[in-house]
Amino acid sequence: MAHSTDPGRSRIPANQLDYRLAWDGRSTKLIVDLCYNANSKDSTVFIYGDLNGDIMGGQNEIFQILENIYVGAGDSLIVRPKERKLVILHKSGDPKRLHYEINGALLVEKGKERPDQLFRPVISEGSLYILGFDLFMNSADTTYNLCSVSWDKAPAGMPYFISTSPTAAPVDKQIVPASEKGNVLMLMGADLLIKKYEVYRIPYYAITTKSNTINITQKTLAPFFTKFFPSTRDFWQDYKSPYYFLSVQPLLKTAISTCTGYNIGIGFSMKYSGPFDFTKMEVVAHETSHSWIGEALQFYQEGMEYNWFHEGFDDYIAVYNLARTGMIDKAAYLKYVNEERLKPHYMSPVRTAPADSVQQYFWTSYEYENLLYRRGFIYAFYLDNQVRLATDGRENIRDFLLDLYKIKLRDKKKFISVDDFAEAAANCHLSKKQVADEVDSYLRKGKLLDFQQIKLIKEFHMHYENGLPVLTMSAGADLQKIYDWQN
Ligand SMILES: [Zn+2]
Repeated sequence: MAHSTDPGRSRIPANQLDYRLAWDGRSTKLIVDLCYNANSKDSTVFIYGDLNGDIMGGQNEIFQILENIYVGAGDSLIVRPKERKLVILHKSGDPKRLHYEINGALLVEKGKERPDQLFRPVISEGSLYILGFDLFMNSADTTYNLCSVSWDKAPAGMPYFISTSPTAAPVDKQIVPASEKGNVLMLMGADLLIKKYEVYRIPYYAITTKSNTINITQKTLAPFFTKFFPSTRDFWQDYKSPYYFLSVQPLLKTAISTCTGYNIGIGFSMKYSGPFDFTKMEVVAHETSHSWIGEALQFYQEGMEYNWFHEGFDDYIAVYNLARTGMIDKAAYLKYVNEERLKPHYMSPVRTAPADSVQQYFWTSYEYENLLYRRGFIYAFYLDNQVRLATDGRENIRDFLLDLYKIKLRDKKKFISVDDFAEAAANCHLSKKQVADEVDSYLRKGKLLDFQQIKLIKEFHMHYENGLPVLTMSAGADLQKIYDWQN
């Protein structure tokens, strides 16, 4: 597929950085030509790679993957690797050209197998994987508020996916707001398998790898598209979205069974190794549920102090829909609640740490990392039971969340507040003051729920073993029915 445009001939808007790509389908190198018009008389400065090296995991040495950097005739270039900076000194007229090549050879540092393959580009014969923050340059000049990207040269007929437009071909130019450029996922591969579904007429894309016939195939993911995503949309009564995608690609260098992922908002990109077990199913459910809790519905936070809602409630709703659709059975449900949530939480040395202390230890402590996921999940389970009891089973946590969503839309606010949270609870016949107090004592300060004093619906029973709460269910209880709703 050849398509070439002389950068000088097509006019580039002043606010746009224009990226043209080329790859031969065999080498580890993606060739990039960045064309733009200069805003300053003297120079233009670009920084490569994401500045937030901690969050992106594998970014610290990212500048080293840039090769063969040069600028258009007449101009000169200063390279400052330490600052990951390129300074182009202007001596000629527009348009400007910056050429660089991204070497996506797989380079895995021990202990960083997951971030190195998730956050760094991985390019090999017949396969290309890159995220926007490894592809595009950063400019401090806010005049450049758009970037455009298209391919000048791509291997003919090779399946292609770009998250900005799932049906685009490589020659189709994509225009991306500069603020969104990090969130672009680009995949090209002889092995790429892209299947389109429709969920309430919204296009959903399942992207897998053809050669992987053992672990995660299109068949493995099908229940998400036929059951889970429709259930989640019904849960939120939200049938509006341009599209959604789920990309699941194998990790090339990792022996153990594991997974990791990057949430792109309009989709989720996962990398994994080993069989599709409960953990991976739960990760996919949790991440693809974030379109609502954590995105559409979020608290304003300074650090991570409201992650009990963003992560814990999201997790509960993910499990809710897995249970409702029958994708997990009673045994798997109880195992998750007991082994992954109740037991580790009530045993954790940091179980009563205040929510606003989590961020400072998050990346260095597994217990802190998981604290608010567990705390929020357990409270969501408790709250779900209280709504059911207060309404004689007519309502459940879904009604509470839909109310919360309505309050947010009614007040036209970007963020929800504890007052909104308590108001939604009051709409479900709970005491507004009590719920506000519970947010403060259990979720913020970290007091433990004492299930010996708590009533649950008749299908659930909590007893204590060695001081830890253990959930069981009545023999005849139907999990799918419990997590269904009437309206
Ligand atoms: Zn999450």
